[in-house]
Amino acid sequence: MCYAIPGKIEKIENNTVIVDYFGEKRKALNELAEINIGDYIYAQGGFVVSKISASEAQSILSVWKETFFELQEVDLRLSRLSLSGNDADKRLLGVLDKASQSRQLSRDELLYLLGLKDKKGFELLFKTANFLRQKNFKNSCCVHGIIEISNHCRQGCQYCGISYHNKDLRRYRLTKDEILEAAREAVEVYGFKSLVLQSGEDPGYSVDELADIVKRIKEKFPSLLFISFGEIGVEGLEKIYQAGARGLLMRFETSNPKLYQQVHPGMTLESRLVHLRKAHDMGYLILTGGLIGLPGQSKEDILDDIFLAKELHAEMFSFGPFIPHPNTPFSGIKPPQEDEVFKVLAVARIIDNHQAKILVTTALETLSPDAARNGLSSGANSLMLNVTPLDYRPFYSIYPQRAHQSEDISTQIESTVSLLRSLGRAPTDLEGI
Ligand code: SAH
Repeated sequence: MCYAIPGKIEKIENNTVIVDYFGEKRKALNELAEINIGDYIYAQGGFVVSKISASEAQSILSVWKETFFELQEVDLRLSRLSLSGNDADKRLLGVLDKASQSRQLSRDELLYLLGLKDKKGFELLFKTANFLRQKNFKNSCCVHGIIEISNHCRQGCQYCGISYHNKDLRRYRLTKDEILEAAREAVEVYGFKSLVLQSGEDPGYSVDELADIVKRIKEKFPSLLFISFGEIGVEGLEKIYQAGARGLLMRFETSNPKLYQQVHPGMTLESRLVHLRKAHDMGYLILTGGLIGLPGQSKEDILDDIFLAKELHAEMFSFGPFIPHPNTPFSGIKPPQEDEVFKVLAVARIIDNHQAKILVTTALETLSPDAARNGLSSGANSLMLNVTPLDYRPFYSIYPQRAHQSEDISTQIESTVSLLRSLGRAPTDLEGI
C-alpha cells in the first residue's frame, strides 16, 4: 500500500519541477539536491519528498494504472449532481445551483445553508459540495499519519482532556528514539509520505530538541513533515522550518476573540494568529480550522471561522466537533449533531472550491461509524491515520473513546483503502498546476 503515486520528472525550472502522472501534469517544489529529467519521485503537498528507482516506480505504476482510471469513473458517477426536476425548496435549489457553478454566494446565502434544518435540504447541500470537490480536485484523497509525541500540556483549554484540568491522566512523553522508530515504521513499513508530529504545549521538549527530531526524521525517513506543538513562538517556528518541517497544523479554534478568551484562559486569539501568519510567510503549509459546537458559538461565528481559515491561506481545513471530556470544565456540554459538522464541511467546500483540502477529523469519525464516508461525500478529501505507538494512544485523550484508538496501523490502512475504493477515491495527493 502506498500513499502517493510515483511521478516522472518532465521539466525542471529552478526549484520547481513538472511531474507527469499518467499523462496529467503537476507542479511541485523540489528541495532535493540531485534531481534530473526522467527521474521518478514521490511528491506530497506540493513538495518533492523522495526519489525512487525507475524499476520500483514502474512496478508500482503498473499496479496503479489498472485502478487509477477505474476509480476516477466510480467517483465521477457517485458525485454527479442533478438539481433540476427536484421538488426541494426553490430558494435552496437557486442557491445550490449558483454554488454548483462556482459563483460566489452572499453571506446571507451561506448562513441560510448553515441553518438548513431538514434532512432533504442538507443532503442536496452535501451532494453539491461533493460535486464541487470532484470538479476541482478529482478523486485524490490525501492521507497523513499523525504521531502524538507527548500529552503533557501547560495550557488550560476548557474543553481539552490533556489540558492541566485533567488531574487523572497518565502523562507520557516519547523519547527521541521512540519518535524516530514511530516515524520509521510509518514511512518505511506503511508507506506514509506525510507525517504530523503533535503534542500538548509541553515545556519538557526544548525547541532545539524538537528541531533535532525533525531534522533526523527528514534525513532518515523522507516525508513531508507537519508540526503541531502549539504556540512555540515565531523563532521556534523558524528553527523548526530550518530543520525541515514544511507544514504547521494549528487550529485557531474559534475566530471570535471573546469566545476564544473564555475558552482558553490566559491565551489570546491574536497570539495564535501571529503564529499562523508568520508560519505562512516562512513557507509553511497551513492546516487550520476550528471547533464546532463550543458553548455560545453562533452560525455567524462558524461562517467567520471558514473565512478566517481561507484568509490564513489554509492548504487544508481542519474543522471538527467538540466532544466533551469528563475531566474538563466542559464535561456537561453536549457535542453537536454530526449533520451540523457535515454542513460546515460542505459550506467550506462551497466557499473554497478549489484551493483547500478538507479533512475528515478523528473527532468527526468518533461521532459515528459512517462519519468518514459521509464526510468524504460532503466535500472533504483528506484523512489522518493515527500512527502513535499503540501503548501510548489511549493517553492522548483530548476527548474520550477516540475513533481508531486501539486499531493497529495495518487495520486502519485496510479499512481506509476499502472505504476509499468504494468511493472511487485514490489515496494520493496530486496538486494541480
Ligand atoms: N498543542 C497543540 C495540539 C492541541 S490538541 C496545539 O495547541 O495546536 C489538537 C486539537 O485537538 C486542538 O486543536 C483541538 O481543536 C482538538 N481538541 C481538543 N480537545 C477536544 C475536544 N474535547 N473535542 C474535540 N476536539 C478537541
